[in-house]
Amino acid sequence: GSVEQEVQKRMLDDRIREMFYLLHSQTIENSTKTLLENQMISLMGLSAKLEKLEGSEDERIKKRSEITNRIMKSIKKLQNPKSCGEANTLVCNLDKECGFGCQLHHVTYCAITAFATKRMLILKRDGSSWKYSSRGWTSVFEPISKCSFDEAVGKTELKPFTDPSPARVVSLGIVDSLLTKPTFLPQAVPEQLLGNLTALHSHPPAFFVGTFISYLMRFNSDTKEKLEEAVKAIPFDKGPVVGLQIRRTDKVGTEAAFHGLKEYMEWTEIWFKVEEKRQGKPLKRRIFIASDDPTVVPEAKNDYPDYEVFGSTEIAKTAQLNNRYTDASLMGVITDIYILSKVDYLVCTFSSQVCRMGYELRQPMGADDGSKFHSLDDIYYFGGQQAHEVIVIEDHVALNNKEIDLKVGDKVGIAGNHWNGYSKGTNRRTYKEGVFPSYKVVNDWRQFNFEALLD
Ligand code: GDP
Repeated sequence: GSVEQEVQKRMLDDRIREMFYLLHSQTIENSTKTLLENQMISLMGLSAKLEKLEGSEDERIKKRSEITNRIMKSIKKLQNPKSCGEANTLVCNLDKECGFGCQLHHVTYCAITAFATKRMLILKRDGSSWKYSSRGWTSVFEPISKCSFDEAVGKTELKPFTDPSPARVVSLGIVDSLLTKPTFLPQAVPEQLLGNLTALHSHPPAFFVGTFISYLMRFNSDTKEKLEEAVKAIPFDKGPVVGLQIRRTDKVGTEAAFHGLKEYMEWTEIWFKVEEKRQGKPLKRRIFIASDDPTVVPEAKNDYPDYEVFGSTEIAKTAQLNNRYTDASLMGVITDIYILSKVDYLVCTFSSQVCRMGYELRQPMGADDGSKFHSLDDIYYFGGQQAHEVIVIEDHVALNNKEIDLKVGDKVGIAGNHWNGYSKGTNRRTYKEGVFPSYKVVNDWRQFNFEALLD
């Protein structure tokens, strides 16, 4: 099909989903609500079925993989220069004071910055001192470059990052310390790829970010072996598995609200019902639970006897011990993220970097998994990102003082989706902030000319 056709199909999907959110949030007579919801579930199933029926999915998988390979090849070229001591280099300090997902996102931001400014990314002292492992970055991952820190930097003075910069070696601080946000920051997409990606994928920026994460997270053979073992324990071959990531402990009340298991299960059940419509047969309920809260898996096993529940509680428990990390806790969080990247659908809070990593990691793997999630709180974002903007495609007249007016063509900076049919944002034309029906806008991804991208 044409680009236009692909885009229209995704818009249809989005609109049905937004209508479901609206309906789901209403208090109306129970039997009517159930009837309407079931009709919508059947619609969503039909829409999902169409995608596969079109028959060209294999072709699309091939095309998406070609894009992934193209980005990968470009990253590898920059990361493996002819002469380590002559290459323009960007040094990144792995040890940001935060959790695993947050640190990996920090390195991802460094990697995108290095790529955008055509520099080789080098971890400070090769990531040898890392709070997650006394044996450093390569205890679990492949080195990110053939050049070591000593070969690439040696005694060269580190100049703070500026763009452009005449210095051969620059050092990049955390994203929060930038005075101005470079235009290449997420969720920017290479202008060379945006057209193709828009036709092939429902979330091009996550695809692009995910490619960098999967480059960084190339597991060493020891880790690979352990991950394969962990994946084998989950019967992916028997049918679909939904992944739940339930972030609790230190996050609740500080950075995110508490969400009970019931809420995750509600969206899991909805997905299974849609999938049953798509496949035209009843499906055994199977879930994988990743969490830092060891009580969640036993709770799920107890309260949902119809579900087969898989999870790694033992590992999650050790992760939080006095903020100190053992080899087991590092493997634990890596395993959880890895499995979250393999499940058929994700239910989580996108406020957690652990869940967002699972989501990102799966995007460049061939399928279009941009919409295969339900977040109980935030929409997707990348920490420190450029403002996420959308374009209005239908006029809106505010019905009360919480809503804002929209005119076709207006740009709106998005703050979030309330998952009840409405989103919140600021109209760039009127400067007014408020809510509006989510279906009246479409994403307007930023573009950047990434010159390091090979043909
Ligand atoms: P965020 O705080 O959820 O945004 O993500 P961070 O990665 O910055 O910090 C969370 C830390 O808690 C991780 O580094 C893990 O140690 C632990 N953690 C959180 N969620 C999970 C999970 O689902 N599984 C495991 N194994 N650990 C988790």
